[in-house]
Amino acid sequence: MRIRSGIFGSIVLGLVALCIAFGVGFAGRGTILKDSKDKDKEGLKQFPQEVVCRDKPKHTPNDVDHKDNLKHSPKNVIIFIADGGGFNHFRADDYYECNQIPCRPCERFPARLAMSTYPVGGEYNAKVAWCSFDYVENGATDSAAAATAMAAGVKTYNAGIGVDVNGNPVLNLLERAEQLGKATGVVTSVPFSHATPAGFVIHNGDRNNYTQIAADMIEESAADVIMGCGHPLYNADGKLTGTSHYNYIGAAAWAGLVNGTAGGDADADGIPDHWTLVQTRAEFQTLAAGLTPKRVFGIAQVYKTLQEDRSGDALAAPYQVPLTQTVPTLEEMTVAALNVLDEDPNGFFVMIEGGAVDWAAHANYSGRLIEEMNDFNRSIDAVINWVNQNSDWGETLVIITADHETGHLTGPGSGQLPEGPVWNDLVANGPGNLPTMEWHSGSHTNSLVPFFAKGPGAQLFKNTIDGYDSVRGPYIDNTDIANVIFTLWHSH
Ligand SMILES: [Zn+2]
Repeated sequence: MRIRSGIFGSIVLGLVALCIAFGVGFAGRGTILKDSKDKDKEGLKQFPQEVVCRDKPKHTPNDVDHKDNLKHSPKNVIIFIADGGGFNHFRADDYYECNQIPCRPCERFPARLAMSTYPVGGEYNAKVAWCSFDYVENGATDSAAAATAMAAGVKTYNAGIGVDVNGNPVLNLLERAEQLGKATGVVTSVPFSHATPAGFVIHNGDRNNYTQIAADMIEESAADVIMGCGHPLYNADGKLTGTSHYNYIGAAAWAGLVNGTAGGDADADGIPDHWTLVQTRAEFQTLAAGLTPKRVFGIAQVYKTLQEDRSGDALAAPYQVPLTQTVPTLEEMTVAALNVLDEDPNGFFVMIEGGAVDWAAHANYSGRLIEEMNDFNRSIDAVINWVNQNSDWGETLVIITADHETGHLTGPGSGQLPEGPVWNDLVANGPGNLPTMEWHSGSHTNSLVPFFAKGPGAQLFKNTIDGYDSVRGPYIDNTDIANVIFTLWHSH
């Protein structure tokens, strides 16, 4: 959001002045700061306390040594995206799981940063963000523009899938991995043709063209694994509906998958590589070990989401409404995908999305948010185990981040109070209990999101820092993900 002139501008500037004047008190009150003690210490070293709302001048990226990059070129790249998962979404699950932060191994990864997510023409202004409670509620990206930024390193307009602002296709990481002879895949807990997975595979001017996107993913892409939801025959509870709803995949593409005739030439040998269709939970589980088909299209027997959209009290505590047992977990899908992809001696690229985190956050369903973040985090833990057992941190780069925050999630008592903006911490209520949290929006926000990386090249992200946020610390931009990996996979 740019500050407009006139009355609105005065209000924002007034808040900035207020925020600077009360900078110390503000910083002290916001218990949101607790998790960034180290960052705070650094911040206090770097800035006089009264300018807590002011960020550092834009950092100039360090020179990148391409020989060094080649040495650190990752064989495997695994990107996790919690759709809509802001700092407090991660924290909510930490409190649920451990009653404290940090909780998960990924939170101890060597590269721990924040990341900006705005679409083309936007910005994140760290000077203003913590001086007005509502600042982040304007200028948010959608998942399409964010996926394009992360997959291709190009900012685009909201709804744009793998295209630049003029609608031209832009090379994505999955396509680059294919050029390098790697296996590739996308995995999600929402329809496979939804914006985030689509943005890593194909190119389309409008994210809502689901059936065309699905057809392109199935027939035109060289991906080896596609897993997600969007089944045309099942409802939200995993029951056959008796009718077909070809919303996320068209009838022809579905028939091709069922008949075993779908799928083009994925490995450029002139022979079509047909998809092996996997649907039942048992089939997904079987893929976790042993020999696997070359290309796997896995669609869970459920409509929009694995679990988030199931019936029952959506405001109940986590897992109080029994989970649908006939669909795999995201963790089971993740392990299955890895076992298919890791047979390529050249390595692989995969994007794994906790897609329904966003759906729970849009609806402000706290219990279901925990369920979705929990499955997402278990998927990350499974990948960390996979790296430790089947690979190593010298050849596999793992990134965990989000495409944007959804719901403006805070702890209780937050808001634009008479004395200024207040962001209180979530309240931990013990392991296995829902933390106390407060939603302020049903939409996406322009908040910074977390970024964790470990493996070859992870430290290079520290060379792409765009600014310093007084609460979240140094932040990169979502375009840096693709641009750093393109650099690591340097073309000669
Ligand atoms: Zn959303």
